[in-house]
Amino acid sequence: MNVLTLVREDLRDFAGYGSARRTSATGSIWLNANESPWASVADADGRNNRYPDPQPAELRLRLAALYGAAPEQVLVGRGSDEAIDLLVRALCNPGMDAVVIAPPVFGMYAVSARLQNAPLVEIPLTDCVDGGDGFRADLEAIGSAALSSNAKLVFLCSPANPTGQALRLPDIARLAERLSGRAMVIVDEAYGEFSDQPSAVSLIDTMPNIGVLRTLSKAHALAGARIGTLIANAQLIAVLRNCKAPNPLPAPCVHLALRALEPDALAQSNARVVETVVERDRLRGLLAGSPGIEHVYPSQGNFLLVRFADADTALRRLLAAGIVVRDMRSQPQLGDALRITIGSAEENDALMTSLAAQKVAA
Ligand code: PMP
Repeated sequence: MNVLTLVREDLRDFAGYGSARRTSATGSIWLNANESPWASVADADGRNNRYPDPQPAELRLRLAALYGAAPEQVLVGRGSDEAIDLLVRALCNPGMDAVVIAPPVFGMYAVSARLQNAPLVEIPLTDCVDGGDGFRADLEAIGSAALSSNAKLVFLCSPANPTGQALRLPDIARLAERLSGRAMVIVDEAYGEFSDQPSAVSLIDTMPNIGVLRTLSKAHALAGARIGTLIANAQLIAVLRNCKAPNPLPAPCVHLALRALEPDALAQSNARVVETVVERDRLRGLLAGSPGIEHVYPSQGNFLLVRFADADTALRRLLAAGIVVRDMRSQPQLGDALRITIGSAEENDALMTSLAAQKVAA
């Protein structure tokens, strides 16, 4: 299968903007980009008067190694948000090619589809709460909907935000097989580090219609640096490079990311992932045993989805204690739910204390 047939026909050989930094020239005097020859007083290292490399080779190399991909399968962007938007713009003809999602789910897939005027097809998650399993994506129905709606993109979130479940690789592979030549299956693994399921990156070599999104925003503690990665078929990545913003990665953010990918920083991130998973399971146990809490879903991410008997009161009292959690009540099927990010042990204790205090007060 030639994956480029999934790209909008008018963009398949689009050369994009010829950024001055995209040159093979080597020189010592750079007069080709209308930059300042001097560093700003704000720029202590003097590294920012030049436009950054659109795709810094070293960063691509290290992210490829981190995620188990080849460098030419890697596109780095301003958070995975940018990659989501880029995929929708490059694959979906406005008004024609649909995007399939399984709500309740991370909101940016729908936002990007809306901005592109791509029809949005929603196959709701099934809540298997009675079996204690939590939510499940109906991949059969998703596949059928993608085929019947002429979808070019299916976004699977694994582990899923906000519902917490993760997909098994054989199930993802089966869906991709069914949609081969018809649609890209994008597995958003923003929370992959916290999961016990392996990454879908290992499927990409044999299944070119699978792409994977990763980010340094969660486990690597760099949400402020906005570094996200799309890993996909090398031909597709080459086309997407031409469609993206010309110089998307701010040089200070690239330096932060490179530092975060050195062995000591990676070891620290790994240790914090372990700590977060321990805290997640501890907090789940504490919450599940608390009065006023209807259900705590199992989670493979760094958050818990919790149903409350009275979510409004819980939210207001948490806020009064200075604790901000995410109100999920406007999401389908989540009319009584809040999403709680796993904090440090002290922060989680403060959350529990505040929830217990409200019961005494109530
Ligand atoms: N995917 C999911 C599932 C997310 O929850 C988020 C952020 N909350 C993102 C992607 C975006 O992450 P980034 O910071 O890399 O843009």
